[in-house]
Amino acid sequence: MNQTILRIAVPSPLYRSFDYLPPASVATNALQPGSRIRVPFGRRKAIGILIEVTRQSELEHARLKRALEILDAEAVLSSDILAMTQWASAYYHHPIGEALATALPILLRRGRDVPDAREPGWRLTQAGVQVDLDTLSRAPRQAMVISRLRAHPLGAPRAALEVPAEVLRSLGKKGWIEPCTLEDAKVAAVSDASTPHTLNAAQQTAVDAVTTSLKGFGAFLLEGVTGSGKTEVYLQVIDTLIGQGHQTLVLVPEIGLTPQLVKRFSSRFAVPLAVLHSGLSDGERLSAWQQARSGKALIIIGTRSAIFTPLARPGLLVVDEEHDSSLKQQEGFRYSARDLAVWRARQLDIPVILGSATPSLESLFNVKHQRYQHLVLPNRTGAAGLPSYEILDIRKLPLEHGLGNPLLKRIAHHLDHDGQVLLFLNRRGYAPTLVCHDCGWVAECPRCDARMTWHQREQQLRCHHCGSQRPVATSCPECQSTELRPLGQGTERVEQALAEHFPGVERLRIDRDTTRRKGELARHLEQARTGQARLLLGTQMLAKGHHFPKVTLVGILNADQGLFGTDFRSSERMAQLIVQVAGRAGRHDRPGQVAIQTHHPDHPLLQLLIRQGYPAFARAALAEREAARLPPCSHIALVRAEATQQSLPMAFLEQVRQHCEAAGETGVELWGPIPASMERRAGRFRAQLLLQAARRAELQQLLSGLVRQLEQMKEARQVRWSVDVDPADMF
Ligand code: ADP
Ligand code: ZN
Ligand code: ZN
Repeated sequence: MNQTILRIAVPSPLYRSFDYLPPASVATNALQPGSRIRVPFGRRKAIGILIEVTRQSELEHARLKRALEILDAEAVLSSDILAMTQWASAYYHHPIGEALATALPILLRRGRDVPDAREPGWRLTQAGVQVDLDTLSRAPRQAMVISRLRAHPLGAPRAALEVPAEVLRSLGKKGWIEPCTLEDAKVAAVSDASTPHTLNAAQQTAVDAVTTSLKGFGAFLLEGVTGSGKTEVYLQVIDTLIGQGHQTLVLVPEIGLTPQLVKRFSSRFAVPLAVLHSGLSDGERLSAWQQARSGKALIIIGTRSAIFTPLARPGLLVVDEEHDSSLKQQEGFRYSARDLAVWRARQLDIPVILGSATPSLESLFNVKHQRYQHLVLPNRTGAAGLPSYEILDIRKLPLEHGLGNPLLKRIAHHLDHDGQVLLFLNRRGYAPTLVCHDCGWVAECPRCDARMTWHQREQQLRCHHCGSQRPVATSCPECQSTELRPLGQGTERVEQALAEHFPGVERLRIDRDTTRRKGELARHLEQARTGQARLLLGTQMLAKGHHFPKVTLVGILNADQGLFGTDFRSSERMAQLIVQVAGRAGRHDRPGQVAIQTHHPDHPLLQLLIRQGYPAFARAALAEREAARLPPCSHIALVRAEATQQSLPMAFLEQVRQHCEAAGETGVELWGPIPASMERRAGRFRAQLLLQAARRAELQQLLSGLVRQLEQMKEARQVRWSVDVDPADMF
């Protein structure tokens, strides 16, 4: 009994790995954990990841199947990624096979070879770097190649460009691109290399704190008001790392933030930089992944899933806007990229910087308990002061499409004085719903417990929860009245009101509806940044991390949604949003003003926020969490279930509750099950059970036993269920 056995994670919803015999005639020393292996799986073939080579199996040898083929001579998942993903699979209670598949670029999941670094590709020439893309509006494929290559200063393989060869040939003839092999580390020279700023004292302290501990693990929370020079701190720390030949991985929450950051990094450093986000083609993703893995790219910028990028010579991890909930995956493998970054840094024994103007209460809690070192940048750089806040009480005021007269007056004033105005409303479409003035009928989604949003331009009702849409009827389906009226405001409606009030002023609306097409978001953001559009209106897309140096007034049309949300994080989110949007004002030399419309001008948290700022707000909010024993002062997980039949999710979760009780884990409290706050979504009824514990270990122990039982339960097959550890939202 001295047989070699391969323990393999195969993508499947099962919470376990599978044992196989090695393929015939494969030398055991060719078997590296982290390699892909093709195996027979049920009636199909699948590509799994080798987790370990062992000599023991729970199955008898005679029952073990033989693996078919080893796809990699060298492991595709480095040992640190393998370890992190295994840990995450256990911590978030997600099947190991699916978790490991998440860690791989899609083309590798499908069996494509790891690209050869000597593969031929193309890169921009100096002339290509400077081409004005607007001149290429008649040649969109050429423009696309140029803009893709700008994100790959190292060059990109042919396949990643996805255009016919003649497009590349004509760009080559124009002298804008040139062939290269991806092994060449030469980078197209950077035209506008920016010079580092002389740091102020707080920045210097921050940079020193990190650079003196580059040799080991350390977690730093860099808290700095917007415009205080956080990015400059990252840049100067990275400068030291580049000098040592070490790589930095930078995570950002939004794909929209990457171009801005890429520009800043690539104008500072003439080193290879790779970008990873969901807007890339599969080929581009694979090539960026390869450049990170080979160690060629010294800076890697990416969204959430980039935390799984292998790094040949890791030196630093940075999580920008660490408070942002999009760093947590909300479906499937529900990991937090921020928390994994801290885990990975510890394991790699390198520092990690979490940066934000409005840190999460989780990170502040970790500072309080001395797990993270707090680095604070209290002031804006240069002449720009912090914006001044003003609360506009809109009780009893007539509102014109959501705009009160005091706000309209302030907008007019700023426009008259050469200012730029940014208005924020977290609701796209024309109106949140349509109501019949005669009988009170409202347009409800047939598949959700929600109202349908009226989109006027398309003359459609759309559900923002399930995507259903239908044409707007001209008369009420209940009473045939034609008095159908919009109820409430969306950005489309406010935009119309602005057009009437401020004719001739160039406007720009930025929300999901106006940025659907590729490249549109980047173009809009650029117009906002240059100040060309003087009246900006948008949803939270506008609130995040962008620099609009000319904005002098920020108007928040409705702060009340956040004050009374059902989630225990509603007020934290509202405060972060207000401070983030406000941070867009007055970043240059002109002071900014922030005007907040609300029906609750005396709300204590709102008052605290605007009088004493985010740190004071956060202290109070944390004290409330402590008193209520809510996260981060306790640990929670949600078991969710949904089904088309209303009674099933509750019945299933009742059983789950009984299993939990039977486990006798006294340290875990159970709340529910209860129906979700929007019970029906996309035709499915939803319910949830909340598990809460003072200590993480007890919660983890209970969940580990539980998922194994759930797999076996017959009721589990009648519902869709999931486990969410450290859920970012409670629905
Ligand atoms: P944050 O990331 O905190 O929003 P940035 O790093 O983007 O802040 O800095 C805001 C602006 O101030 C940028 O235009 C940046 O170039 C400039 N800046 C940063 N540090 C300094 C400094 N020490 N002196 C002068 N200007 C600075
Ligand atoms: Zn009616
Ligand atoms: Zn719906």
